[in-house]
Amino acid sequence: MANPRVTHYHLVLLPICLLTTVMLQVVISAENLVQLPIIVSPIHYRLTLLPILEDNSRLCGHVWIDVKARSETNIILLHSSELKILKTIVLPLSPDVNERATQYRSEDDVAVENLCFNSAVYHDSAMDHSNIALDHHLDGQKQYLSIVLGEPLKKGAYYRIGLLFTGNIYEDNTGFFRAKYEVGGETDCCKRTVAATQLEAIQARKMFPCIDEPDKKATFQLTVGHFFALKAINNMPLKSSAPMATVEHWVWDTFETTPAMSTYLVACVLTEFGHVETVYHSISGKDVPIRLWTHRHRLAHLDFALNLIPKALERLEDYTGIPYSLPKLDVIALPGYEEGKAMENWGLIIHSEMNLLVDETTDSIDKSIVAATIVHELAHQWIGNLVSATSWDDIWLNEGLTTLMESFILEQVASDLEHESVMLVFLQEVMRSDLLSTQFPLSAPASSYPTADEKFDVISYAKGAAIFRMARSFVGPEAFQSAIRRYLTKLQFSSANSTDMWNMINQEARRTHTISGRMSVARIMKTWTQQPGYPLVHVHRGKNGILHISQRPFKSEDVPAIDNATMAISASWWVPISMTNGEQRKFSPKDLLPVAWLSPRKPSMEFQGTMGDNTWVLVNQQAGNYYRVNYDKQNWDLLSQQLMRNHTVIPFITRSQLVDDAFVLGHAKIITYDVALDMIRYLSNTNDDLLIRRVAQSHIQFIEGTSENAIKNPEREKLIRSMSSYLNRDRKSRMAKMSTNDLRDLSTGDCDVGDGQCVNKALLLFQAFTSGSTLPEDDKSVNSDSTWCAAIRHGSNSEWDFAWNMTRSSELQSSLVRRKMLKAMCCTTDSIHSKQLLTRVLHPNIKQRPKDTSMIMNRLIKNPSARPIALNFMLSNFAFLNKHFRNPSVTSELLTAFAKHSYSSEELEKVRAFVMNNSNELEAGGVNRILAAVRNNLFWLELTSDNFRGALHSDNK
Ligand SMILES: [Zn+2]
Repeated sequence: MANPRVTHYHLVLLPICLLTTVMLQVVISAENLVQLPIIVSPIHYRLTLLPILEDNSRLCGHVWIDVKARSETNIILLHSSELKILKTIVLPLSPDVNERATQYRSEDDVAVENLCFNSAVYHDSAMDHSNIALDHHLDGQKQYLSIVLGEPLKKGAYYRIGLLFTGNIYEDNTGFFRAKYEVGGETDCCKRTVAATQLEAIQARKMFPCIDEPDKKATFQLTVGHFFALKAINNMPLKSSAPMATVEHWVWDTFETTPAMSTYLVACVLTEFGHVETVYHSISGKDVPIRLWTHRHRLAHLDFALNLIPKALERLEDYTGIPYSLPKLDVIALPGYEEGKAMENWGLIIHSEMNLLVDETTDSIDKSIVAATIVHELAHQWIGNLVSATSWDDIWLNEGLTTLMESFILEQVASDLEHESVMLVFLQEVMRSDLLSTQFPLSAPASSYPTADEKFDVISYAKGAAIFRMARSFVGPEAFQSAIRRYLTKLQFSSANSTDMWNMINQEARRTHTISGRMSVARIMKTWTQQPGYPLVHVHRGKNGILHISQRPFKSEDVPAIDNATMAISASWWVPISMTNGEQRKFSPKDLLPVAWLSPRKPSMEFQGTMGDNTWVLVNQQAGNYYRVNYDKQNWDLLSQQLMRNHTVIPFITRSQLVDDAFVLGHAKIITYDVALDMIRYLSNTNDDLLIRRVAQSHIQFIEGTSENAIKNPEREKLIRSMSSYLNRDRKSRMAKMSTNDLRDLSTGDCDVGDGQCVNKALLLFQAFTSGSTLPEDDKSVNSDSTWCAAIRHGSNSEWDFAWNMTRSSELQSSLVRRKMLKAMCCTTDSIHSKQLLTRVLHPNIKQRPKDTSMIMNRLIKNPSARPIALNFMLSNFAFLNKHFRNPSVTSELLTAFAKHSYSSEELEKVRAFVMNNSNELEAGGVNRILAAVRNNLFWLELTSDNFRGALHSDNK
C-alpha cells in the first residue's frame, strides 16, 4: 500500500513522540486476525460480481472455489464479513485440472441477475444428489463462515465450493466501494459515481467468501456485470463481453485468469473515465500495454506519470532480472480515495488523485512525492505481488523493501527531483518516533494492533526501509541486489517470511566475503526487528588514535530506566561501525562497509583509528545505518570547524545527520545545546542546504514550543536567538541571489519570520496569479504552495476574500487548484479567518467534502495561532463531525494530531478530559493513541519546564 509519509512535508518534523518511556501501551488485539485452521487449500476462484452503484446500492455475487482437502473433517471454514450467504453447495471434483475447467455451469450469471434485480434465489435441483453441504453458520466477530458437511472430506481429494451471496457497497474505501465526484465543482449538478476495490489488508472477505490470508494464493477469474456505458477494469485483460440474459442495457464482462496470487490483490474498477496509453517493451520480448485513467478533462495531468512509468518498469526489470508478470498494466487516479493512499493491485494500481496527477500548480516536492508513490506501487508488482509476505506480521518486508527501492529507482529515472530529501526526512521522522515503549518492534504480530491496517505504520515503512538500507550498507550493493534477485526468482508466485529474506542475503554476503563466516545476517537483523528503538553509539577518542566505541539504547538521560515497559535496559544490537576521518575523507559506496562490529556480547570496544589528534572522525557513513552517534566534545568541535572551513568536504546526507543528531541529543539532555548551535553555525555562510535549514528550524520550533508554558528563562531565549540568527543572518543577501523558483523554500523560513522582501515578493506573485497576468520572472513558483501560504498569512482581507471566493467557484478544472487554495488558507494567523474556514463545513451551500474537512483541520492543528480555535470547534461540533466523516477513525486521528502538536498543558488536559468522557464515541484503538500522545507531551513539558540549567556551555558528557 502507499506509504504514510506524504502530505505534511512542509510543516514537518516536530519530534513529537520524543523520549518518553512512561507510556503504557493498552492494546485491544484484532480478533478477526485469527488464522483459519488449514482444512482446505484454495486453487482457483471463479467469481461473479454484480455491483449496483446507484440508489439502493448493493453487491450480488456468486463464487466457485476449487479446493484441495487437507484434513478429514466435516466442516469447512472460510472468511466472510458483512456478507449474507444465501446458498451453499459443496461438490466433489475431478483431480484432473482440464476436466475441472469444463465442469462449470453457465447459469451462475443468470442466478446473480435474478438475485440482484428480482430478489430471487435460483435453485438447481440437478446438483442436489452430489451436494454434500448441509448447512452454514457465520461468526461475525471472527469473520468465519463454517460450512457443515453431510460426510467428511477425503484428505487429498478436490472439491468445489459454491456460494451465492449479497453484500454492501458504501463510500468507505474498503471492500467493493463507490465514490462520488463532481465534474462541476462542489454542487450537486454534476455528480458521477466511480466504483473500485480496496481489499488490503483483510477486506477481500467483505467482497466474497474466501480464505483471506496472503499466503493462501490461488488463481482468479472475474466476471463482472455493469451498465453498458461504464468501463470495467480488472487485474487481467478482458476476455469476453456479453449482454445480460434478463436485463436490458447491462453486460457481463469476463476477464482472463490471473496467475496465483493473494486475495488482497484482486481488483476491479467501474468507471466512465477516459485514458491515455503507451506500450512498454518488456525484457521478456513482449509488449505490455499501459493505460492511465482519470476524468476526461484531466487527461493532460497524466503526462508526468505516463512518461515515468515505462522508465521505472525498465529499471525494476533490470534490478530484479525478472520481467513484469502480467500481460497489461492499468493505473487509475481515483477521486474520493483517501488522500496519500495508493494500492498496488497486480496489474491495476489505484492512486488517490493527489498521488498521480501533476499539473502546473504542482511544486517539485509534491512532484517528488507523486514520483515516489508511482515507483513504490510499481516495485510492489515484484515485492509483495510476485512474492508475498507469508502473513500480515511480516508486512514490513514488503513495505520496507519497496520504500527502499523507491530511492534506487528514482535516482536513475528522475534524478532532478528531491527524492533524496524526501527519503531523508522520512528516515529522520521515524528515528524520532521509534523510541522504546512508544512503539512496537517491527516483528510485532499484526494481532497486537487494534486492526490489521494499523500494522501499515511508519515503523513498517520507514524503519523497514532503514534496516534494509543498513543491510545493503553492510553487505554491499552487489550482494544485496543478487540476494533480492534470488529471493524473487526462487519464491515467485508464493510467499516468504523474514527468515527467507535474511538467509538469501546471508548467502550472498558470504559469497562476496562482506561478512565473516562466524556472523549470520539473520542473527544480526533479529536484534533490529525484535525490539523497538535503536542504539546510541558513543565514540570517544583516546590517545594515539585509539577510539573507544560503545552502544546503549537511545533514550533520554532523565528518564528513569525503571519506567521502561517494553524493553530490557540491557537491550543491545549488532551494530556495524563504518567510518572515515578528516585525513582520508572516504565517502564512496564501498566505504559504507563496516570496519568493525559491536554486538550484544561485546557492546564496547577499542579501535585503532588512523587519524591524528587534531583530525575529526565520522562514524555511520552517509547515515547508512539505523543509529545515532555521539562524540566527545573535541571531535564535535573538530567537525564544526570543518563545516565552517568547507562544509562540502562532508556529504550532504552526513551533514544532515550531524545536525539532526546534535539537536536530538540536546533534547534528550545527553549533550548540551551548544553542540547543535556549533553544527548549524556554518549555515550562515552558505546558500545551500535548504533542507538542513528546515531540519534545524523544526528543532528550534520544538524548543520554543516546549518553552511556551515555562517560566521565562534568559538562557533558553538566548539560545533560540543565536540559533535563529544562524539560519537567518544572511537572508537579505541570499534573497537577492535567489530566483523565484527558490521562493517556496524561503517562505517556510524567511516569510514566516516576516521578512519584508520575501513577503512582498510572495504578495506580488499572488496578485499576478489573481489578476491572471504574468511577471517577467514568472515561473511555476507563482502557484507554489508556499507563495500562496505566505500571501494569505501576510496579506490583507483582499487576498483572503479572493481565496474564499475562489474556493467556492465551481469551474471544472478548479478542483485541484481549489484544494491548494484551501491549504494556503490554513496558513492564516487571523482568528476570524480561522473561524470562517472551520465553519465552512457547516455552510448549507458549500457541501464540503470530508477529505477537505480533514485536510483543513489537520493543517490548522499544526498552525499554532489557529490550533486553540480548531480544538474548540472540534470539541463543540464533535457529533456533527463524526457523522460527516462517516468513519470514526478520522475524528480519533484528528484528536491524536491535536495531542501530538500541542505543548500547552491546558489544551492537553482539555483533550484528555473530552476523551475520557466520550470514549464511547471513539474507536477503542483511537482512545489509547490519543491518551498516549497526551501523556507523551505532558511528560515532555514536565521535563523541560522546571528550568533550563545546563543548556549551554557546560561540560559535554
Ligand atoms: Zn506499499
